[in-house]
Amino acid sequence: MAKTGEICTFCGRGSRDVSMLINGISGAICDECAQQAYEIVKEQMPAPRSSFGLNQNGLPKPKDIKDFLDQYVIGQGDAKRYLSVSVYNHYKRLLQKITSDDVEIEKSNIIMVGATGTGKTLLARTIAKLLHVPFSIVDATVLTEAGYVGEDVESILTRLLQAADYDVETAQRGIVFIDEIDKIARKSDNPSITRDVSGEGVQQGLLKLLEGSIVNVPPQGGRKHPEQKMIPVDTKNILFICGGAFDGIEKKIAKRLNTRVVGYAASKDTATVDRNNLLKYITPTDLKSFGLIPEIIGRLPILTYLNPLDRNTLRSILTEPKNSIIKQYVKLFEMDGIKLTFDESVYEFIVDKALEFKLGARGLRSIVEGVMMDAMYSMPSSDCKELHVTFDYAKEQFEKSDVNRLQLA
Ligand code: ADP
Repeated sequence: MAKTGEICTFCGRGSRDVSMLINGISGAICDECAQQAYEIVKEQMPAPRSSFGLNQNGLPKPKDIKDFLDQYVIGQGDAKRYLSVSVYNHYKRLLQKITSDDVEIEKSNIIMVGATGTGKTLLARTIAKLLHVPFSIVDATVLTEAGYVGEDVESILTRLLQAADYDVETAQRGIVFIDEIDKIARKSDNPSITRDVSGEGVQQGLLKLLEGSIVNVPPQGGRKHPEQKMIPVDTKNILFICGGAFDGIEKKIAKRLNTRVVGYAASKDTATVDRNNLLKYITPTDLKSFGLIPEIIGRLPILTYLNPLDRNTLRSILTEPKNSIIKQYVKLFEMDGIKLTFDESVYEFIVDKALEFKLGARGLRSIVEGVMMDAMYSMPSSDCKELHVTFDYAKEQFEKSDVNRLQLA
């Protein structure tokens, strides 16, 4: 009889016929059988649920969540703290159900207010990455009240179901980011003048999703129709994060603060108002005067804001995040065996252009793209294994790129 270590106990082939034999106490397995066994296990085992397996010890603490966000998102300290705490509480709340405590913790849906391109979506996306829960982004502008052209509010959950591979249980613990929530604000102060199918009507529809109820979701999204089989989804444990630019809300904040100035002329607070960043004084009252109905505001108890991106922040965004734009390009070139480096002045140039064209952080990528396009096209087929981008090179490339035409737009 062959000794352990000479043949695979599973397929019987000898060590000469296989690439590798792994010995156990009373048998051995060859590389091919090990591979096959792995495939079988992978197929048979249920997919792991959330990364923290829903126990208190495994839950990332608010500080851990903020540290994680710091790796990807620059600045926005307040928003990060609010998000970290409410996500932590949200998952504690899920745990609490298991221990059936009698003090019921309410859901902590979040609303983030901040100019476009300041990192609202990025924050929500990064949170979902940390928690390994299904995550979907929906745009509130496409929603209309049931029966009108557009999408039903229930379709918000279709994307989440898709992100969870239609596993309803998993989807029910996911995170939904509703972008442009400000676009469904009430159009007029008087709700009864005309029917407002894309404003107040949608807000009413959203209510039942936010507060937690069983919602019938069209599996393919869009408009519900009678023949379609609906999937019931319980939204009780889905965390909703809403984001919006709320253009012009600063005026309402300023007005409210001024009223205070009159009312409490001697108040120290009002004397030190930062007029360049009024959003940090936002309160639910301002959302109401902007046109969100009180019931919706009540269902989004965590209100936070994002700061406008200044020069320093843009500069940091370019190189500091774990997957910063510059790091991505260095990686792209590295995959072709090319070492890519930049002069510090190139970074300054890119930030200047983003500011000049008022493109914010989103513009950084297009500008870098413009600068690198020629090199990305020609270098993979050349023998050159190094590229150092200087200020003059960047300027020249940028000026002949399409991106430069943005200036005219
Ligand atoms: P918003 O949702 O507020 O409109 P996004 O989160 O979509 O903005 O941001 C657009 C892009 O700009 C992001 O993909 C990211 O590359 C970059 N960005 C914006 N703000 C930040 C930030 N604070 N830190 C890092 N990158 C940012």
